[in-house]
Amino acid sequence: MSKLPNVTSSIFSVMSQLANEHGAINLSQGFPNFPADEQLLQISERLVHGNIHQYTPMAGLPSLMEKIGKLTFQYYHRNINSSTELLITAGATQGIYTAINTFVNKGEEVILLDPSYDSYEPSVIMAGGVPVRISLNDDYSPDFNRIEAALSPKTKMIIINNPHNPTGRIWTESEFEVLESLLEKHPQILILGDEVYEYISFSQPHISFHTRPKLVERTIIASSFGKSLHVTGWKIGYLIAPENLMNEIKKVHQFLVFSVNSFSQHIISEYLDIVDFHAISKMYLQKRDLFRELIKDSRFELLPCDGTYFQLVNYQNISKQNDVDFSRELIAKHGVAAIPLSVFYKDGTDRNVLRFCFAKTDETLIEAAKKLKRV
Ligand code: PMP
Ligand code: GLN
Repeated sequence: MSKLPNVTSSIFSVMSQLANEHGAINLSQGFPNFPADEQLLQISERLVHGNIHQYTPMAGLPSLMEKIGKLTFQYYHRNINSSTELLITAGATQGIYTAINTFVNKGEEVILLDPSYDSYEPSVIMAGGVPVRISLNDDYSPDFNRIEAALSPKTKMIIINNPHNPTGRIWTESEFEVLESLLEKHPQILILGDEVYEYISFSQPHISFHTRPKLVERTIIASSFGKSLHVTGWKIGYLIAPENLMNEIKKVHQFLVFSVNSFSQHIISEYLDIVDFHAISKMYLQKRDLFRELIKDSRFELLPCDGTYFQLVNYQNISKQNDVDFSRELIAKHGVAAIPLSVFYKDGTDRNVLRFCFAKTDETLIEAAKKLKRV
């Protein structure tokens, strides 16, 4: 028997494939359908013929690591030692898998907050750990009573994704304070902070674990250039963690991938000299507002969106079907693909909510909205 006998294709593959089969507009899987920045592409063209195609050092290209260190200081005023506290990974997915498999031992519990990103649970199971899945409140804020009740000497890690996929919610200052006081009593618990949407926040500033001195010494933070630079296919991200934790993570990383593709590391290293991550939020804010404006008169009910490039909608005024069936119908009959939210819950909780990705050209959003208004 394999270790993941019940796992099937991820919802992102399923919905993107269905969208292709039906020629539907794909607002399901989270990826931009507009090109990466022209300057990034120019750097790629210039560097491709250079000597950049062999293994980089195991932890990453030193110049890239140094610049990520500067970036971390620039955005979060945290000074890291980029050669000892940083690891370049093959996307955040590999970073997350590696961090979990470095620390979680057989039988140890990992707290996941549902709706939770699909890679967390299988990564915990591969480590022999026990996923403990706790639903967020109805407004997708953390339910600290249930979190506190779940904490025990068996708890090894809690995974916190902020800004949050799929809900677009961002944690508040007071929520961080509650977490800090809860975890004070449990020094053995590590935090995995999945911050891949760190540069996409709107109504509420993103508070990073980098800025929480009471937590940062036990936190591994995952970031993704795929998300921040509109190059999801490059699969490049990084982990930042205190040196004692990072030393252990590197041991696993070196036998999982050894080092990450050199080409994108060289290109991104140069590009970090000119990129402005603040501009990313502005661009996505316009897209969020455009999409919300376009479908506000439809029968879909818009839920709040503080960050990420995902917009949730409730469709209870339209159909009583479960969200998976309704998503299939939306593709087949109406030509728009979305992600049903129930797949992110342990028990398949279905609140008739779908997730649309608005990281798309304005033309795509306008076209999709026309179709959604006819539903
Ligand atoms: N975490 C979350 C919350 C994500 O949405 C994603 C991907 N979209 C990842 C991790 C994985 O990022 P990457 O594509 O860099 O592996
Ligand atoms: N993270 C992306 C999303 O939420 C998808 C990544 C993937 O396809 N694995 O849609």
